[in-house]
Amino acid sequence: MNLALLFDEDFVAQDRAVLQGRRFEHIKSVLGTSIGDHLPVGRVNGQIGLGEVVALTDSEVELVVLLDQQPPPPLPLTLILAMPRPKMFRRILQTSSTLGIKDIWLVNSYKVEKSFWQTPWLSDDNLRENLTLGLEQAKDTAMPNVHIRKLFKPFVEDELPALLKGKQALVAHPGTSTPCPTHLNRPTALCIGPEGGFTPYEVGKLEEAGCQSVHLGPRILRVETAVPVLVSRLFDACL
Ligand code: SAH
Repeated sequence: MNLALLFDEDFVAQDRAVLQGRRFEHIKSVLGTSIGDHLPVGRVNGQIGLGEVVALTDSEVELVVLLDQQPPPPLPLTLILAMPRPKMFRRILQTSSTLGIKDIWLVNSYKVEKSFWQTPWLSDDNLRENLTLGLEQAKDTAMPNVHIRKLFKPFVEDELPALLKGKQALVAHPGTSTPCPTHLNRPTALCIGPEGGFTPYEVGKLEEAGCQSVHLGPRILRVETAVPVLVSRLFDACL
């Protein structure tokens, strides 16, 4: 936790927040914070800054916060992801949030097992918690939006074309002939398939909607690896 993300319900006054639970435990036990110490904080969808510890009990910490800086810029990326296996999903969510992805569409695909959609990680609370962990890692505050689309065809035919407007649209697909572009640094929509890959039918539908198939070389990457590899190829985070 490189920053404690504060939510509206944490604030007891305009510049005071009280934290319990995970963030409190981390501040007390991992950081070993004492009264008078300062630590990085941010307000969800707002600015970042410092919080001064003004009270510390066995169960909560009170901070006086000064939020006067902007969080890092978001990536201009819409990520369209075939719903991953639950174990990977949690990590992929956190990583996507850390990388600055703000728009995530979870879609069905032939090789997505039906049971994947039953995972508790898709509940509103669990989505928020994992996205929060990703934001705290990156010292960011802008909460990503997650959209769930359990039917592939209506999504691709009815929603995707509008979603792709004004963006470079790509589908990462091993074995295709075009290498993935580098240093795009402009609004992009990127589709990433499931563990078994998109079927030829699905790739055809994505191409019909306006996506270009691109590859990352002969090595097949896990989705959790493909996401950061694609993001760092498409966007220069250190500009
Ligand atoms: N088993 C599938 C690969 C699935 S990898 C096959 O052999 O085709 C999961 C997803 O990660 C893919 O659908 C793709 O979106 C992305 N990916 C992984 N490695 C890739 C590569 N070398 N080139 C392009 N996309 C890749």
